[in-house]
Amino acid sequence: MSDPLHAYIVSQGEELLTGQTLDSNSHFLCGQLTDLGLRVRGAITAGDRVEAIASALRLAADEAAVVVCTGGLGPTSDDLTADAAGLAFDLPIVLHDEALTQIETRYRDAGRPMPESNRRQAMLPKGCTVLENPVGTAPGFAVTTPGGRLYCLPGVPFEMKRMWTQQVATDLAARFSISPPERRLFRVLGKGESQLQDLLGDLPTLHPGIELGFRARMPENQVKLVAPQGHPGMDEAAALVRARLGRDLFAEDEGLELAGAIGQLLLDRGERVAFAESCTGGWVSHLCVSEPGSSRWLERSWVTYSNQAKQDELGVRAETLQAHGAVSEETAVEMARGAREAAGVDWAVAITGIAGPTGGSPDRPVGTVVFSIVGPEVEHTRRLRLPSSGRTPTRRFSSFIALDMLRRQLLRAGAAQG
Ligand code: AMP
Ligand code: MG
Repeated sequence: MSDPLHAYIVSQGEELLTGQTLDSNSHFLCGQLTDLGLRVRGAITAGDRVEAIASALRLAADEAAVVVCTGGLGPTSDDLTADAAGLAFDLPIVLHDEALTQIETRYRDAGRPMPESNRRQAMLPKGCTVLENPVGTAPGFAVTTPGGRLYCLPGVPFEMKRMWTQQVATDLAARFSISPPERRLFRVLGKGESQLQDLLGDLPTLHPGIELGFRARMPENQVKLVAPQGHPGMDEAAALVRARLGRDLFAEDEGLELAGAIGQLLLDRGERVAFAESCTGGWVSHLCVSEPGSSRWLERSWVTYSNQAKQDELGVRAETLQAHGAVSEETAVEMARGAREAAGVDWAVAITGIAGPTGGSPDRPVGTVVFSIVGPEVEHTRRLRLPSSGRTPTRRFSSFIALDMLRRQLLRAGAAQG
């Protein structure tokens, strides 16, 4: 396998070095360049000094054929990227009529006079290709460097992204022979990174040339296989991962969320679900409603926060609450049964817990959450003790656990049926 084309990122802006702005441009570009099949060798941030930017550009161009720089193309005196590119690659800075016309047009379209300072944005290195900015005033530019090509884009993320897609990615594909690697993604719930390493660590030995990667993205863990396009072992390796992950694998697609996977399982069975939420306060329902088409499988939900609500809406018995408390298996299962009955659906899920920071007790500490799933011939209730990571993380985590428990019950029911 030939070494992939190297790329380097230069982020420009004093605000990045003072912690005022998060460098989301580098994050975006790293992902995009990698997806195109380039290897990002590094990223460097330079403040608002022309020498610092020039030395960052030179370093990047020494390390990689493709350099993408963002920021410093505005009309003010701290916008120095064009000057720095001139300094770094010994190019005079000249007025580009094409760039000036673009800026003037942008102002004319907006019905405003162009301030004189914007002329500065048309002062670019001699011989560069001007990159049109269709959504802002700052044009970008590209220059050929001794070892490859430098692309300079504005810092404003949405302008940068638009120009990346419309101009830089296409220019890269036309100039360099790059081929995106083949990637397979496996999204996992219920297994930690070390378990995944133990389960799948032998894969690169079994299938040389296929890289195995892991990524933790709470609450899920992701497994990735990456190989050059057309690697003959990819399908077999993917099948092996699938078989070893079993029901812990919930999706193989970046765009499919857990709630969407559940929706698909419910649709396959022609069934609907209702939720009775206490500590999650509607979060589970929110995750479901975020899925397009969820009205076909989500019937309704309750946020039954008080004991009274649990009784009034779901028919939880006063004696149950009295004897066992609101956060108990007994209450959870009555909530789920009541929701299933009241909604007239096949499946109901109840969640009741102590999100904290107050309200815990020695036998029911903060982070205690009880889940109950009631479905056709199924009643599954579990009490968990989640790490006390704060109210919001506990509520969020509980919501995903509730959905994952439902997913596993649906898979089990599906298997029993088939
Ligand atoms: P500039 O093109 O340098 O005038 O930057 C314009 C604005 O874009 C800045 O004020 C920041 O808010 C934003 N920006 C610049 N660089 C970045 C970056 N690397 N990541 C995210 N936002 C940025
Ligand atoms: Mg700036």
